[in-house]
Formats: sequence, C-alpha cells, structure tokens
Amino acid sequence: MVLETEDTIAAIATPYGRAALGTVRISGSNSYSILTRIFRPRSELPVQSHHPTVGKIQTPNHEIDEALALYFQRPNSYTREDLVEITCHGNPLILDQVLKAILVEGARLARPGEFTYRAFLNGRMDLVQASAVNDLISADSLYQAELALQHLEGKFSARLQDLRARFVDLISLLEGNIDFSEEQHYHFVGRDEAVGRLDMLITRIRELLGTFERGRLIREGFSVALVGKPNVGKSSIFNSLLGESRAIVTPVAGTTRDYIRERMTLGNFLVQILDTAGIRESVEEVEREGIRRTRQVIEIADLILFVLDGSSEPDREDEQLWNETNGRTRFVICNKADLSSFHRIVWHGEEGIALSAVSGDGIESLLDKIQKHIENRIRYRSEDFLVSNLRHRDILQSSLNSVERARTSLSSNMSEEFAMVDLHQALQRIGEITGEVTIDDIYQHIFRNFCIGK
Ligand code: GDP
Repeated sequence: MVLETEDTIAAIATPYGRAALGTVRISGSNSYSILTRIFRPRSELPVQSHHPTVGKIQTPNHEIDEALALYFQRPNSYTREDLVEITCHGNPLILDQVLKAILVEGARLARPGEFTYRAFLNGRMDLVQASAVNDLISADSLYQAELALQHLEGKFSARLQDLRARFVDLISLLEGNIDFSEEQHYHFVGRDEAVGRLDMLITRIRELLGTFERGRLIREGFSVALVGKPNVGKSSIFNSLLGESRAIVTPVAGTTRDYIRERMTLGNFLVQILDTAGIRESVEEVEREGIRRTRQVIEIADLILFVLDGSSEPDREDEQLWNETNGRTRFVICNKADLSSFHRIVWHGEEGIALSAVSGDGIESLLDKIQKHIENRIRYRSEDFLVSNLRHRDILQSSLNSVERARTSLSSNMSEEFAMVDLHQALQRIGEITGEVTIDDIYQHIFRNFCIGK
C-alpha cells in the first residue's frame, strides 16, 4: 500500500478506555499550526520544541480539557516530521473530542502503523526496527519483548550493515577487476583474497542463521503437545495446565487447524499448549482422523507430553502412538493419580510423572519441569543476539546460498562475472531485510574508488 505522506496525520495513541491519562498524536508539516489553533498555553508563551507546556484544549465554542502539549520540531521526532503529543485526561469522550478538533483543523486520521511507516520512510529507522516496534508492543513474554527491543535498538541492523559493507567492498573490487584488468592487467583483488573474503561472509551469515532456532522458540513460543490415546485425560490436563499457569492466557483467534492451541507464559517464555482432544469426530472416521491429527501435532511440537492412564495397564494403542513419537523429545505422564487403582508406570525404561488432572496434584511440578526444560533448551541470556523472524531467516538462507555459489565459481577459476551475479543477488536480498535499495550504494562506491584509483 502506498500512503500519502505529504499530509498531516493524527490518532489517539493510547488504548481505548478510561485511564488517568490519554495521548493524541499529530505528525506532519501542519502539526504545530494545528496545535496553536486548538491549544491555549497557561502562560500565554508559545509552545517550544521539546518543552512540555500546560494549557487548555479548546474549540471556538468550548473548552475540552486541560492538557500537556509536547511539540517535537523536525527532524528530532519519532517520525522525523513536526510531531505533537497532547496528553489529557484518559476519557474516551475527551480524547475523541480532541481528535475531532484536530481533524477539523485539517489533519487526517492516521492509518494503522502510519507513524512508524513515516519514521521508516524518513530514514529514522529501517524495516527491521519498524517491525520491531510492533513486536515490542504485542510481545506476550519478557524474552519476546527483549528480542524486539534488540531489533528496535538496531543490533540486527548493525550486523546487516556490516554484512552489506563487506558485500559492497568485495563487489566493487571484483567490478574493478572486470573493468580494468584487460587493458591494464591490473587486479584490484586476487582470487585467493576474494575467496577468503567470501569465507568470512559465509561464516558471518551462518552465525546469524545458527541463532534462529532459539530465536524462533522465543518469538513464536515453545510448543508443548499432549499426545495419548482417547480418554487418558489429555483435555483435562490441557485445562489444568492453563488453569494453573501463573500468567496471561490468551486464546489464539481464527485458528483453522485441526487441534486446539492456547498460549500461556511460563517464566519469561511464551508457551503454546496443543491438544487434539475435544475435536468432534464422526464415528467411522475416528481412527484415521485421530492418527492424522496426532501426526500433525507431533510434527510441529517442540516437546511432547505423552499421556498414559495410570489406572490401567498400557496396551497396544499406547505402544503404537509411542512409536509415532519416536525421535521427539517426550515426557511420560501417568494421569489419574487420584484413583485407587493408580500405579506409576515404567514406560520404555522411564518412570512416568504422576499427576491427577482432576485433583490438580502434580500439575505445578509438571509446569516447573517444562519451564526448566525450555530454559535448558534455549539458554537465553540478555546479551545474546538472536534472529527470530522466519522471513529474516529465509532471506539470510537465500543470500548464503548465493554467496556459496559465488565462492564455488571463484574458486574454480570461472569468470568473475558469474560470481558477481550471485553477489549482487545476495546483497539485494540482505537489503530486503532492512528495506534498502542497494544499487545506488554500488554506483557510489565504484565512483569513489574510480576517482581515488585514477
Ligand atoms: P482425553 O480423551 O484424553 O482428552 O481425556 P479427557 O480429558 O476427556 O478425560 C477422559 C475421562 O477421564 C473423563 O471422564 C475425565 O473426567 C477423566 N479424567 C481425566 N483426568 C482424570 C484424573 O486425573 N482422574 C480421574 N479420576 N479421572 C480423570
């Protein structure tokens, strides 16, 4: 979507509802003049940039509220445009009136994300940072928020810039070789050195890619699946786990998949609990459908809670399902510990974790075990930098493929032009992450080199 960026936009920046304070934001060249028309400072002195000013919001007909106005003169603002924030009492009726007064003075209602979009267009932040704003606001766990903040602060962008600079350097040198070697027998960079530089690039991209799995687990949430034959108590455990969870539980809206998924936080992690039970099945199709859905869940789960009914002996059906989960990380659970016929089953050499979904005994300690398992698996420390976005991973992977192709052609003495095609491709792709156009960089760099060299 291409948005008009010449006009002045406005929106309420705080959530809808009553609160002590609420803020309306205006951005664009008319922000300041709109402010002067609806805001009367108490001191009668004009509002100055970056100085909070107390006063009244008013229309020609009536006073709306007392407010604090903050004017950020461009380019020192979030959007790099003239920007105004008006903070008044957090009543939706008041905020609506303030917004209306601003719109009457000529601003238009901002579209979702438009302030950040302008910040991106005006070079205040790159694409990685702009999407991190959204990630930070919508983070459900502390570590998700930390990852988003790393991106917002530009830690990923800095690494990408470093990669880009190395690409541009190497491409320029190879370009020089191609342009000048024939007449002047001059080489800007030898083959061995070029291959060495490519190896360095390959190492750096691989390092970034190597962080993705842990980043993904933090960003998307660690998925824990309940697997077991019908009636062992999967949905009862599902509910108990969510009921005992010490923090927010949000339903996942609009899921069309064949399993139930709920999100909760465990420690600083987001966890997704998956359950196949509770889905209606027509009698004839029970078996086929059951297996299909279970396989689907097993495939995507990061941890499987394999549930047995501790009040009876395991049978062939348990055995079959167990085989389906071979090779995956599993905890064995023996449910129904409240029944007198209960016994702890030793299942394939592993003693099951006893619990009762009905009484709740053992649920807390199961949650602790899951949390410890996740901590051990991810081993996240605040100073770690992790790639967490699938799109970023895919782009990095495809640039890695291009660089590896370039390395193959350079080291097998093919013409440098082949490597150039791949390197341009890799650079272009890295630029897609940050939202930059790359071709200009190359031209400028070549031009500078050309002048110095001559
Ligand atoms: P699912 O088919 O594996 O999802 O199993 P459900 O959660 O629907 O439970 C099947 C039956 O076992 C229901 O009647 C539950 O009330 C019962 N049940 C589940 N967990 C327990 C438990 O810990 N103790 C007892 N006594 N009954 C349980």
